[in-house]
Order: sequence, then C-alpha cells, then structure tokens
Amino acid sequence: MFKARAYSAASASSPLAPTTIERREPTDQDVRIEILYCGVCHSDLHQARDEWRGFPTVFPCVPGHEIVGRVTATGSAVSRFKHGDLVAVGCMVDSDGTCPECAAGLEQFCPNVTLTYNSRDRHLGGVTFGGYSDGIVVDQRFVLRVPSNLPLAGVAPLVCAGITTYSPLRHWGVTRGQKVGVVGLGGLGHMGVKFAHALGAHVVLFTTSARKREDARRLGADEVVVSSDADAMSRHAGSFDFILDTVSASHDINAYLHLLRRDGNLTLVGAPSEPLSVQAFPLLFGRHRLSGSLIGGIAETQEMLDFCGRHAITADVEVIRMQEINTAFERLLKADVKYRFVIDMASLKS
Ligand code: NAP
Ligand code: ZN
Repeated sequence: MFKARAYSAASASSPLAPTTIERREPTDQDVRIEILYCGVCHSDLHQARDEWRGFPTVFPCVPGHEIVGRVTATGSAVSRFKHGDLVAVGCMVDSDGTCPECAAGLEQFCPNVTLTYNSRDRHLGGVTFGGYSDGIVVDQRFVLRVPSNLPLAGVAPLVCAGITTYSPLRHWGVTRGQKVGVVGLGGLGHMGVKFAHALGAHVVLFTTSARKREDARRLGADEVVVSSDADAMSRHAGSFDFILDTVSASHDINAYLHLLRRDGNLTLVGAPSEPLSVQAFPLLFGRHRLSGSLIGGIAETQEMLDFCGRHAITADVEVIRMQEINTAFERLLKADVKYRFVIDMASLKS
C-alpha cells in the first residue's frame, strides 16, 4: 500500500478538508495513475452531503469521478497502457465482468459494479475513494485512452458529464435535423448542447438563468428559452423529438413533457434528491415517453472520447485549486459555474 494526498468530507455537514488515504499496490491487472485533473460533478456534492435516500454516503468520503492523469506503473498483465500514457477514469473502477449487463457492455448496470467512490472496496475493504486525490490504482478494464489533441483539464469532465449526455443522445437515435431540447446549462447540460449540436440536431436550451443566453449560443444552441417565460415555452409545445433533462434540483418536468411531439421522449439524467411529480396527461397525450439514463458503458465511453478527439470537443472549464473546493460547491448550488469546475491536482502538493 502507499499513501495518497486527498480531500475528504468527514460528515454530511462538514466541509471537505485535507487528508491522507491508502491506495493498493498495483496487482497484475492494475494501472497506477498520477491524477492531474479531476472534474467537480454535482453528484460529488449530492454524495458528500448525503442527499440521496437509498444511496447513503459512507464517511469519510473522497469524491471525484472525472479523472485524468498519467500512468506511473502497470501490473505484469497490463499490455494496453505503459508508463507515461495519458488516461482517464470515470464513475466506475470495477465490475464482475460475467453478468449479462457486463456482457452487453453496460457495466454501469452490473449488480456488482464498483463505483469510483462510495462503493465497497474489494481489495482493501472499507469504501472506495475517488479522484479528489493525487493518485489512484484502477483495473485496466476501467482505464480509458485520452485523445492526444485535447487540452487535459477539459477532458476530465468528459468521463462523467460527457458520457452521461452522449449515451442517451446516441441510444435514442438523435440525428441531423431533429429538434432536441436540453434543460439546464451546467456541467452536464453544456456537454449535452455540444453533443446534440455535433450530431446535427436543432438544439434548444432551457435555462432558469437569462444571463447564460449568449454562452448557450456560443456552445451550440440554436435557440435559448428562459423557462420562466410562459409564452416562450408554449411556442414550443408539441415540437420536440427528444429532451434531455440535466437539472440537479426539484423542478416541474410536466412543463417539458408537454413540449414533446407525438412519440417524443424525455430522458432524465439529473438526479434531484426529492421525488419529481409527474402528471398523467402530459404523458398520455402524444404517447410521450419518460426515461432515464446512467452514465454509459466503458466501450461507449471510449467511443465518446474518440468522437471528442475527432470533433475537438472538450468541456468549458474553470480550473480551481483543491483548496477552493468548498467555495466551488457553494457556487454549484447557485448554478454559477462556466461550465465545469476542474481541480488542478498540482495544488494538493502546496
Ligand atoms: P450543475 O453543473 O450544477 O448543473 C445543474 C443545472 O441545473 C444548473 O446549472 C441550472 O442550469 C439547473 N438548475 C439548478 N437548480 C435548478 C432549479 N432549482 N430549477 C431548475 N433548474 C435548476 O450539475 P451537473 O454536474 O450538470 O449535474 C446535474 C445533475 O445530474 C445532478 O443531479 C447530478 O447528480 C446528476 N448526474 C447524473 C448522472 C447520470 O448518470 N444520470 C451523471 C452525472 C450527474 P440553469 O442555470 O441553466 O437553469
Ligand atoms: Zn458525475
């Protein structure tokens, strides 16, 4: 075992603070990674504050599942990676590899999936610790290759915010000429806008923040609707092929179901802690569908990274020092980030 520097929350109400954690020595199948950047997902905040009923947080909690770094050591059975390679690790670090979900390349639904943090650590016991740290050891099956042409800080958010928006757009067959709505312009939402635009869709961004209008257009939205404007909302009634809802807090999804065309689909990727209320009629009329989506499998995550390499897509980031994480959490709660905080792990050494 070796020690890594990290930031952890001691309880749901305590700020994140510096700590030291244990990492395993690489086994035959493992890759040891020096973490260079880690994105700050709203899930990190939900989890560190124990906001999700049914998915309790084990403390101390080291969040972080948008990791990019450099390989510093490899196990004897590792052939795909070598010392010095730039790699990424997202929300999962292991799965059983034998169940139907794993066979389908959908490791995120494996009943024995190990999440990057707040999962049972099958090597060391206790709980897994995430990327708010300067080093991690990961089974090679869950290590991703980073396209060489992309700025590293902007790559980190791709392995959660990126795949979480890319996967449902692909699964539901979004193509050129379709009308696609994205609800919320945060970390996930801004990637949803970029991907839907890159796929050739006509993209409408719904926001509660009128100040984000110009940015949304620059990021690829063809139209921007401030959701409090009832007239603007009603002008889009019955017109969307697909809507991606990325909102992190309670909100009225019926207002968006109403905007779908016949057989249109609204996919929820946001994970508010409180239940959403769904009315029957906005589903019944138009035979609308309401669905959900959880990150994406490993093969699809690599496909998404390669797509980003070809299309020069990365996240728009505000690079912060690890010491600024608690302020970053507060700003996330105010929807005040352009459009993903990414921690520069060099700051952990100072
Ligand atoms: P984020 O950066 O904080 O963005 C959330 C956005 O939602 C905000 O920027 C804001 O956009 C909008 N919003 C916030 N509060 C709102 C409210 N009360 N009413 C309406 N809109 C509101 O968060 P994120 O990192 O993108 O994550 C979004 C959600 O997805 C979180 O719940 C997270 O846990 C979840 N998530 C799910 C998956 C998955 O696999 N399904 C993966 C990652 C994250 P505007 O200012 O434009 O309104
Ligand atoms: Zn995330």
